Amino acid sequence: MDFSIPKELQKILKEIHEWMEAEIYPMERNLAGKTFKDILPELNEKRKAIKEKGWWLPQMPKEEGGMGLSLMDFAHVSEVLGRSMLTHPVFNCQAPDAGNMEILVQYGTDEQKEKYLEPLLKGEIRSCFSMTEPDHPGSNPAWMGTTAVLDGDEYVINGHKWFTSAADGAKFAIVMAVTNPEASRYQQASMIIVPCDTPGFQLVRNISVMGEPGADYGTHCEIVYDNCRVPKENLLGPEGGGFIIAQQRLGPGRIHHCMRWIGICERAFDLMCTHAAKREVAPGKPLGTRQIVQAWIAESRAEINAARLMVLEAAWKIDNVGTYEARTEISVIKFYVAGVLQKVLDRSIQVHGALGMTDDLPLAYWYRHERAARIYDGPDEVHKVTVAKRILRQYGITVS
Ligand SMILES: Cc1cc2nc3c(=O)[nH]c(=O)nc-3n(C[C@H](O)[C@H](O)[C@H](O)COP(=O)(O)OP(=O)(O)OC[C@H]3O[C@@H](n4cnc5c(N)ncnc54)[C@H](O)[C@@H]3O)c2cc1C
Repeated sequence: MDFSIPKELQKILKEIHEWMEAEIYPMERNLAGKTFKDILPELNEKRKAIKEKGWWLPQMPKEEGGMGLSLMDFAHVSEVLGRSMLTHPVFNCQAPDAGNMEILVQYGTDEQKEKYLEPLLKGEIRSCFSMTEPDHPGSNPAWMGTTAVLDGDEYVINGHKWFTSAADGAKFAIVMAVTNPEASRYQQASMIIVPCDTPGFQLVRNISVMGEPGADYGTHCEIVYDNCRVPKENLLGPEGGGFIIAQQRLGPGRIHHCMRWIGICERAFDLMCTHAAKREVAPGKPLGTRQIVQAWIAESRAEINAARLMVLEAAWKIDNVGTYEARTEISVIKFYVAGVLQKVLDRSIQVHGALGMTDDLPLAYWYRHERAARIYDGPDEVHKVTVAKRILRQYGITVS
């Protein structure tokens, strides 16, 4: 495995970082007490600049208007972008749109691509992914209550979802619903495209999360599908194929998230070290002279480095062997990097004292928003169980 960064990519990473320092970091303070909706006009201006620079859609192939990077190379880009909470949306590689684009590229019909994928790639519309339900455990995605019943040429969808991120203002949702209740456990659900203006699509509320109901892109929504009718042509991929497609979507998606988290860690680490070197706790004695702070710095450095190598290994395996074969590595990074993120953010806030709690720095924003990293895309415990089961199988124990 070769994790060296090609020269050309190094240059791009440096340029992107410099651009972020000049154009994006100063915008972060504008987010204090506001929502993504409030700063949309400014973000759209930045998007224009990104297109002109040829950095638009760094996760997509050239044929789709993207940068044409391998997953490994995109992983490095995602890390740099992760240093600000504003950059992924500016480059049009934000969740859940990035994952939805991937599904549409792979499984969309020509008509679906024209209607949904193209405007998504151009950044003209946004989308959401509607799978988790309040009345069923999201950690067991094969068990859900939402149904889609074929009635003539239409699917009739009924169900109750929540935590459909970014649904406020989205043009369409990719909905997971049971279409084949008699099939085996993992072949019961399908993905169906539901335009958000379909009668029966009811956005109940933007759920308040960690004190913020949010708006527009920055929302997690509760949605009721009440006899929502869509043409049967809105089926995405094969009927009963929803679970398999979701698994494929989540593989590269976890690399994107994990590298973004490492970007957050690096920024939090930078801020921690800068403050430790500057803030004096006694005359002539900056915080960095205290051993406990030195330990936090050393532990953070070791954990971030380890996390990065683990993610690159997983990305290498997806690129070179396949997503299915990389399942263990993907689960390992999901819980490991989420844990490192939480620890590094916490230490950085602690070193900053009261300043760490303010919105003058991005730390408090991330602390609120990224606690969820240990829950979404599969809680820690589910990934740990998955990894352990696979390992134990090699030792002759099959745990059901
Ligand atoms: C900020 C945020 C954004 C999200 N965005 C989306 C989105 O866009 N679309 C979408 O569909 N969903 C989204 N989700 C939902 C997310 O995927 C689910 O919350 C997640 O899958 C867990 O499901 P649950 O909340 O129902 O928890 P449950 O399944 O009820 O689990 C609760 C807890 O039980 C424990 N647990 C579960 N299973 C096991 C086990 N086998 N062994 C031991 N312990 C276990 C875990 O600690 C877990 O946290 C989002 C969630 C958050 C917080």
